[in-house]
Amino acid sequence: MIMKKQKSRVVMVGKIPIGGGNPVVIQSMTKVRTADFEKAIKQIIDLEKAGCEIVRLALKDREDLKGFKKIKSKVHIPLVADIHFDYKFALMAIDCGADKIRLNPGNIYKKEEVKEVISALKSAKIPLRIGLNSGSVQEPGSSRMAMPDKLVESALAYIKMVEGFKFHDIVVSLKASNVIETILAYRKFASVCDYPLHLGVTATGFPYAGAIKSSIALGVLLLEGIGDTIRVSLTDKPTREVYTAKVILESLGLRSFGPEIISCPTCGRCEVNLVKLVNDFENKASSLKLNPIKVALMGCVVNGPGEAKEAEIGVAFGKEYGLLFKHGKAIKKVHFSECVDSLLKEMENKHG
Ligand code: SF4
Repeated sequence: MIMKKQKSRVVMVGKIPIGGGNPVVIQSMTKVRTADFEKAIKQIIDLEKAGCEIVRLALKDREDLKGFKKIKSKVHIPLVADIHFDYKFALMAIDCGADKIRLNPGNIYKKEEVKEVISALKSAKIPLRIGLNSGSVQEPGSSRMAMPDKLVESALAYIKMVEGFKFHDIVVSLKASNVIETILAYRKFASVCDYPLHLGVTATGFPYAGAIKSSIALGVLLLEGIGDTIRVSLTDKPTREVYTAKVILESLGLRSFGPEIISCPTCGRCEVNLVKLVNDFENKASSLKLNPIKVALMGCVVNGPGEAKEAEIGVAFGKEYGLLFKHGKAIKKVHFSECVDSLLKEMENKHG
């Protein structure tokens, strides 16, 4: 059971509310140069189709800035400009219509520079993400301070400076590459501050490990009611980040995005390529607007229906035919080649 959601302030990113008990928002980032605007637009459209709600882009030079301006005129999803080292790119990105600015306190921290950015954010009425990660913390207090404390202290010091400019439209992230440190940092911050939190684990490694690390850290925090928006960082296609984020939120019962697929691990009884069948089904189902129901794809007709009794509807595959079933009870025998389409048709008829 999810512990009571911790109350955070609400920050608007375009039309998307973050915090204040609103649904946890999914974010990702483009993985091509922003200057290469045609490729970036394609990635953004793919991300949006996959279920991403806010997209961040890296801006590191004037070519990226030109690309950002073009992209902004072609897409509708809120865009966040990710700025490091040179605060002037934040000012220019705000002029180009950015919906939020992310600053890294590790490399943009001079008071006069931050003051200029805050003044531009106020005029544009857009928020700031104070985006810390373990590689970018200042060294507050003792250098022997543990990483979670360093992240929290750095964030609080930066917030104090920004609040000094009478600005409170803030989202905070405290990403470590270590799962436990990430959990401890966010937990500590949430106990002392009510700005909305962008959750993530940074530099997670290969996609498989990355998905697991993110699921553990984000899962623990979200179960404790901490976190208002998430980004799963993977060394993989950006859409994979969104699919992983969706599974995390669905698994915790925080959001639903259509049918939840359950499938068996297969064993010696399975006579079909279940991995391929599940992928085919997932691709076809994602293009249809289906209600959130539990659907099963099982590897054999002998045990499949019984093992997936909790599914509202499902198919158990045999070599030449499959059984469509509801709550474990067979309803129809169909030819193998028609199993997936019959299942989808059944779902559309009954649950679309
Ligand atoms: S449903 Fe059939 S194939 Fe799948 S794990 Fe169970 S017994 Fe094996």
